[in-house]
Amino acid sequence: MATREPLPELLSNIDRRRFLQLTAGVAATLGLSQLPAGIARAARPPAAFPFTLGVASGDPSAHGVVLWTRLAPRPLEFDGGMGRSRGPVEVDWQVASDEAMSTIVASGTSVAPSELAHSVHVEVAGLQSSREYFYRFRAGDHVSAIGRTKTTPAPGSPLEQLRFAFASCQDWQAGFYSAYRRMAEEDLDVIVHLGDYIYEYGIGPTGGARNVAVPAQFRTETTRLGEYRIRYALYRSDPDLQEVHRLFPWLVTWDDHEVENDYAGDDPESEPAAHFLARRAAAYQAYYEHLPLRLSSMPNGPNALLYRRVAFGDLAEFSVLDTRQYRSDPPCGRGEQPRCALALDPVTTMTGPAQEQWLLDGLDASGTTWNVMAQQVMMGELDHKIYYDGNTVYWQDAWDGFPAARARILDHVATQGIRNPVVITGDWHSTFVNDLKVDFKDPASPVVATEFVGTSISSNGDAIVYGPYYGPMVPDNPHIKFFDGDRRGYVRCTLTPDSWTTDLRMVSTVSTSDAPVSTFASFVIQNGVPGAVPA
Ligand code: FE
Ligand code: CA
Repeated sequence: MATREPLPELLSNIDRRRFLQLTAGVAATLGLSQLPAGIARAARPPAAFPFTLGVASGDPSAHGVVLWTRLAPRPLEFDGGMGRSRGPVEVDWQVASDEAMSTIVASGTSVAPSELAHSVHVEVAGLQSSREYFYRFRAGDHVSAIGRTKTTPAPGSPLEQLRFAFASCQDWQAGFYSAYRRMAEEDLDVIVHLGDYIYEYGIGPTGGARNVAVPAQFRTETTRLGEYRIRYALYRSDPDLQEVHRLFPWLVTWDDHEVENDYAGDDPESEPAAHFLARRAAAYQAYYEHLPLRLSSMPNGPNALLYRRVAFGDLAEFSVLDTRQYRSDPPCGRGEQPRCALALDPVTTMTGPAQEQWLLDGLDASGTTWNVMAQQVMMGELDHKIYYDGNTVYWQDAWDGFPAARARILDHVATQGIRNPVVITGDWHSTFVNDLKVDFKDPASPVVATEFVGTSISSNGDAIVYGPYYGPMVPDNPHIKFFDGDRRGYVRCTLTPDSWTTDLRMVSTVSTSDAPVSTFASFVIQNGVPGAVPA
């Protein structure tokens, strides 16, 4: 194995509070004289153009939004081309009400610290609700592209329509992001990303389906901070991914591949357990550094608070979940397994007890028509028994491995009369439309919620693999109303007070970045009637 370059120190090794002080100055100008003790003076901005990874916004509220960028003149180098010793760099930001940036409504100066890969996370406040805004950054003489974003309606205010898209699973070497190029042409209020934003596996010298030369530092699996950083930089170098970040605010959560395949809490799939939490800390930090997240999501060592809630007036509330960080060790093992007794033990959890209580309390308190659980792995049951002589077998990484935890949530939704619960899901690289039940095996068990599992942006590429394998299972699982295993794309949802319409937007191929998209099928949920039906 080639000698690895020395890599940067983890955030857990430096003073996290310093960054809270540095970057929490909401809409305030932070001059040199105001830099906290320990940072005597800001470093010079780089001479070369540093906004190579574009701009992004996320976690919108009625009053503000997070603005993101990162200074990286040479993004595929471990230090982003900033030089190992360059300290914090001041970055000015502006928010305008017009695309020409002629009417500035908020502005300030933030700091891009080397300890956070010279990333910038500005939490803008004081904006008006339900409004489009434009923003840009400046470092020295360099000015970024102009981004577009949108605040949410005021809490509880009447909203006639919400349009969003959700996506997941964008393995860079599996194909091009034609799905994102087409998503950029949509009229959307927000984009929700449900995980597998990166894949940790080593990348071949010709970049898989992309067929481009990939430098040697991408050959091995990502385990350390610098390796995760350049992996995000590689993904974000894709122009189509950059453009959808520039055009819409995002609401993101992670799944497993941001750290390691099928990890569960502190239980790795293959990493020696003693090293796993250090690896998780590095992975979580790189995720934070590259996405438009609030300071409240900044990791503290191997821990990060990612579950959170965003509402759109009186129409919809999103509970964004983290089903990786706190989940139990898989009670019945990994892969395809029969159910074991431990899976029904009340201590098994997908969310951890604190997040579960937060979810149920939030659902109880919600006043919106639609209540969305934005999360990672499939909640609907998928019995694989067709391949096991009629004996029930489940994929243990999904909610099927944690049936007690699933039943607690669905039973609560049913008994408390939660209004229009809808689960949106990634992970499977396949499309499912599911009726959710407290007891999937009981035909008399009522439908209590609806699930849409979105296919991948690129993962699995154009291979025809999952359709032939999972398709024959569907007749044994009659609560599955639709399945497609081999088309790539995203899911577009249009919500009104009366109905929810889901359009499965599929691209023809991921072998090019410019493939056309079409609506392969559409489904509707009527207000008050759980379960989607063909439109
Ligand atoms: Fe995936
Ligand atoms: Ca996954």
